[in-house]
Amino acid sequence: MSEFSQSNPRPGYVYLVGAGPGDPGLLTLRGAECLARADLVLYDGLVNPLLLRHSHAHAERTCRVDSPTGRAIPQEEINQRLIEAARSGKTIVRLKGGDPFIFGRGSEEAAALAAAGIPFEVVPGITAATAAAVYTGISLTHREHASAVAFITGHEDPSKSTTLDYKSLASFPGTLVFYMGLHRLNSIVQSLIDAGKPANTPACVVSRATQPLQRTVTGTLEDISTLASTAGLHAPSLVIIGDCVRLREQARWFESRPLFGQVIGITRPEEQADDAAIRAVELGALPVMLATIEISPPESWDSVDAMLPRLNEFDWIVFSSANGVRGLLNRLWETGLDTRTFGQARLAAIGPSTAAALEKYALRADLIPTEFRAEALAAVLRPHVSGQRVLWARASRGRDVLPTELVDAGATVEQLVVYQNRDVDQFPSAAVQQLERGELDWIALSSPSIARNLARLLSDQARSHLGTRTKLASISPVTTAAAQEAGLTITAEATEYTWEGLFQAMINHGK
Ligand code: SAH
Repeated sequence: MSEFSQSNPRPGYVYLVGAGPGDPGLLTLRGAECLARADLVLYDGLVNPLLLRHSHAHAERTCRVDSPTGRAIPQEEINQRLIEAARSGKTIVRLKGGDPFIFGRGSEEAAALAAAGIPFEVVPGITAATAAAVYTGISLTHREHASAVAFITGHEDPSKSTTLDYKSLASFPGTLVFYMGLHRLNSIVQSLIDAGKPANTPACVVSRATQPLQRTVTGTLEDISTLASTAGLHAPSLVIIGDCVRLREQARWFESRPLFGQVIGITRPEEQADDAAIRAVELGALPVMLATIEISPPESWDSVDAMLPRLNEFDWIVFSSANGVRGLLNRLWETGLDTRTFGQARLAAIGPSTAAALEKYALRADLIPTEFRAEALAAVLRPHVSGQRVLWARASRGRDVLPTELVDAGATVEQLVVYQNRDVDQFPSAAVQQLERGELDWIALSSPSIARNLARLLSDQARSHLGTRTKLASISPVTTAAAQEAGLTITAEATEYTWEGLFQAMINHGK
């Protein structure tokens, strides 16, 4: 053991990182690097918890977003925690909404660290003003409408004492952006009008900017306060005042996405839900994870391990899911073998996602049916398999269409369970609340077993919203039939049996 290891811990380091305005894609590369090397992450109420995916560290939230009184932990205590953790040799990321030095008290934290002799780095972030403006279609400095932009705190109450000079704000030759101003909106606009700003100056409030639940309310200084409160906007919200607001319609993009603002339940197993969730976000929707099935390794690897050295005995290896691909290929690698074991075997995949899973191992599917279901896979394989040996890498349960059909076509079929799929007992409690409050617009069902499971897991309260507030979309006729048998009514059915097809069906329904 080194003589230094006990008494002289490596000095710690603090990264004060801007988390951006909410969209988890709006973090800097440097921010992601810092998160990856952190031992401890302290994040504030505005930070999107999805950013914690960049980190393996223990993470703690330091204040609640919805608490009207603000901070749950006093600033001094946060400073002290940062200093103590750094002194114990930890690398800490202090993650703050937007930019850490814009209305974020990040500079106070930095000053406390400097005073304590703790080394630190500050990573800027995209601040709410520029992000909200861009995501609602506004250029804060449009050359025909504004020669300047001011970031202003709306925290100070202009009707009482304020250090802001509303006379100079009223004559400011550009755009005014108020942070933290929603609950004082009425007195802010009144003070501006009283100080001589024309009452018909365009104004807007953007709430939850850059998130799928972003909302923008547009009006003038005179009516924006009433419009915002009628619309019931939530924090965090930003107020933008100036002629540039008028040009919003010309450069709208985010709010025009085809599924903008829709809340969509993603029923895929957790391990496979990322692609669908990312796609939902790209289409403007808010994904809610509703896994009904859990994927896990087989109870024992014995039969798989016994089969691996024999893979080259097969003419065809058939994969009916991406999980099957991962189950077999990961085990192959873990046991010291590699894909050369496949020898001359040809590979069949049930659809594009399964083929894409093969590609990750640099394997090309020799055959993919045009319709992505077991019957279609069996039909395209039939002409090729008479007298041939076929291995099916499968789940612990599922339909038996494939082996039945292939045996009927003259093949010798062996089945190998490479993963288990189990029903989950309940949805996460946050998702249950959303379901019961009717906050979901869609639940997307991507297989017959998922449809049956959903029917089993939904409470009566959640069921009462089905068909009205919450609609069901099905990936294929087989899934629709299973849903109907379980008493669920399908509103939209995909014509292409993929997740993209499911999203398309929801988009078409809205047209
Ligand atoms: N450091 C942060 C600001 C912290 S002050 C930044 O640079 O963005 C908190 C205020 O920021 C909120 O009251 C709100 O006015 C604004 N804000 C932060 N995120 C926002 C969002 N996603 N949408 C609208 N306003 C936001």
